[in-house]
Amino acid sequence: MNIILMGLPGAGKGTQAERIVEEFNIPHISTGDMFRAAVKNETPLGLEAKSYMDKGLLVPDEVVIGIVRERLSMDDCANGFLLDGFPRTVPQAEALTATVKELGREINHVININVRREQLIERLTGRWICPVCGASYHTMFNPPKEAGVCDKDGGKLYQREDDKPEVVAQRLDVNIAQTQPLIDYYSAQELLRDINGEQDIQVVFAEIKSLLRG
Ligand code: ADP
Ligand code: ADP
Repeated sequence: MNIILMGLPGAGKGTQAERIVEEFNIPHISTGDMFRAAVKNETPLGLEAKSYMDKGLLVPDEVVIGIVRERLSMDDCANGFLLDGFPRTVPQAEALTATVKELGREINHVININVRREQLIERLTGRWICPVCGASYHTMFNPPKEAGVCDKDGGKLYQREDDKPEVVAQRLDVNIAQTQPLIDYYSAQELLRDINGEQDIQVVFAEIKSLLRG
């Protein structure tokens, strides 16, 4: 099963991705996580990506397309994959269509998680992440059992630089501008499925599962 998870920053892609990949046993491919790992390891890719990420801007298409193409041709993607945070622009979507075709496969589902802007701001500014496993928590909506500590592995939670209030509005605007053409792209292919992302995490997950099984 080859799945794309779409939604603005804070919509709950990472939160749902964690659950989907466990349920369907496929790799979770998050371009944001790949860039954050590259920044942390100070690789050439990380150095290039950092200047865009810190400002809430998108990394250039050719850079993102290159890393996704490489990742999708790895063996663990042979039985399916879940893309989270890619594609974010129409050129990325077109490149993905071509790559998947080259691999002799197709995209089966595009799930679009919808959440209003005011709610996204609340979610992003209260988000805390585990540096070990990447799990997302929220101080109010999804708190860890012990404050500041990951439930799964005890990692010490941190706040992303780009979740600070001064960058959040810019990120949302950049992403909103890119989103409608992408929605049109996948609607035209009759792949897009909308989910109301303002429901409880478990309810959103139940709806996604039933879409994927249906
Ligand atoms: P969020 O979880 O808030 O949606 P991500 O973790 O997916 O954000 O992405 C963080 C940053 O990484 C983005 O603001 C952008 O700079 C970069 N990035 C991630 N995915 C892409 C992409 N598909 N195209 C361009 N830039 C990307
Ligand atoms: P994305 O990957 O789309 O940027 P995340 O999965 O990281 O989004 O979620 C953003 C924030 O919102 C996190 O703090 C997360 O705990 C919280 N969150 C995710 N889903 C929900 C939900 N359904 N209701 C309330 N808060 C949520």
